[in-house]
Amino acid sequence: MTELTANSKLAIPRFRLGIRQKVLLVLLTVLLTALSVSSWFALREERANLLQEIDQRGSYIGRFVAKSMAYSVVGYDYHTIQLLLDELTSSAEIDYAKVANVKGSAMGESGTASLGISVEQAANEGLVMFTNVIEIDNEAVGTLYLGLSTEHILSRLESQKYTLLKREALIILLIALGEFLALSYIIVRPVGKIANFLQQNIDKEGQLTGNIPLVSNDEFGQLAYQFNSLSKQLNHANDKLHSKIESADRRLLETNQQLKQLNDEFRLLSITDPLTGLFNRRHFDELMETEVSMSNRHGDPNSILLIDIDFFKAINDTYGHYVGDVVLKSLTRTLQDNIRHTDAICRIGGEEFAILCKRADKEGAMELAEKLRAIIESTPMLPESDDELLITISVGVASVPGNNGKTTPKQLYKDVDTALYYSKNNGRNLVTHVSDLHHETPEE
Ligand code: GH3
Ligand code: MG
Ligand code: MG
Repeated sequence: MTELTANSKLAIPRFRLGIRQKVLLVLLTVLLTALSVSSWFALREERANLLQEIDQRGSYIGRFVAKSMAYSVVGYDYHTIQLLLDELTSSAEIDYAKVANVKGSAMGESGTASLGISVEQAANEGLVMFTNVIEIDNEAVGTLYLGLSTEHILSRLESQKYTLLKREALIILLIALGEFLALSYIIVRPVGKIANFLQQNIDKEGQLTGNIPLVSNDEFGQLAYQFNSLSKQLNHANDKLHSKIESADRRLLETNQQLKQLNDEFRLLSITDPLTGLFNRRHFDELMETEVSMSNRHGDPNSILLIDIDFFKAINDTYGHYVGDVVLKSLTRTLQDNIRHTDAICRIGGEEFAILCKRADKEGAMELAEKLRAIIESTPMLPESDDELLITISVGVASVPGNNGKTTPKQLYKDVDTALYYSKNNGRNLVTHVSDLHHETPEE
């Protein structure tokens, strides 16, 4: 019988990455990528903004300073020019400042890091250079060079980068949490509900008890619905199968009983004589085997009577074979009526019978044999007929010696046959015990 038992539930590995964990992993991967990309763009934009700011400030300062220096340049006031330039470079933003006349000769230069270097060299030092023409009434009188340091701008950029990253990470984490909760509710919860239900509601027969309690208007609801109707069909088919198996089992049991009965009948037939209904020769041999070995083992006495009808051939010849059969049946009944129910009576040949007398010693067996001989002698064998047909029997008796020794079934039969032979040869209608023959052999 196919058994879908609870054992057939899917084994769940101890370590597993459930849907919830997988969703979380995917979300984190997506969000970290998003964080990296958005930070990169944000920083790029921030850098561009800062550079633009520097540009604006540089241009503005340059224009302002160029304007304020114009008269000092025209008046060759080197001292004021130098003071102004020093003042400019004292601020953190400006690292380099230089004023040249229209011919290009330096009129003043400032900036500790860049003293004595050319404008080109200053630009190479990583400064953002601004060049402004100094003019009066639209006439150029000189040139102002300003080098703005990018160092503090970069450090500002760096600090902004961390602030930006922290802010974005926080926002992204909040979004991830929200999405995770939403996905948990939308996807993980119904899947978990289906999985839990299946794990807890499969009975010992392997049948799903009840329906998955999930009603929703999406694919999960559809899945639960399909599963419920499939399980209903399966349970139905399973019930049908079970009842079929049960009725097949019942039929098999009945057939087995019939077979056993038939077997018993065959066995009985095989050990029964059809005419008299007595045990046949085959069973007599089996009984002898059993009884003799029991006697040998336990020391109980046991005796056999071998009975042969005298001149039976003459009855057949006189009355016919049919009457001969009636006589055999009559004799059977008479014998059965006069023995103990523990004794077994067998027809071992045409008109030969044997009686196994359990626990009967020589005296008991001889008493029974004599009693039977006398009864038969005086009992009419055709009770329903006017003809008072009387027969006699010759009987041989032999006994298992009990405590005195052991014997074999073969020897016992030989002994009882010898005794019968003796009765036949000594006038018939006689009972002889083999032990009374004073060791005479059958030939004698
Ligand atoms: P004895 O006293 O020496 O035993 O003489 P008997 O005639 O009985 O001996 P014998 O063995 O010569 O005859 C036995 C007869 O039994 C021969 C056979 O026709 C007859 N007989 C054997 N089986 C049956 C049977 O089933 N039915 C009938 N009616 N006769 C049977
Ligand atoms: Mg005979
Ligand atoms: Mg005979």
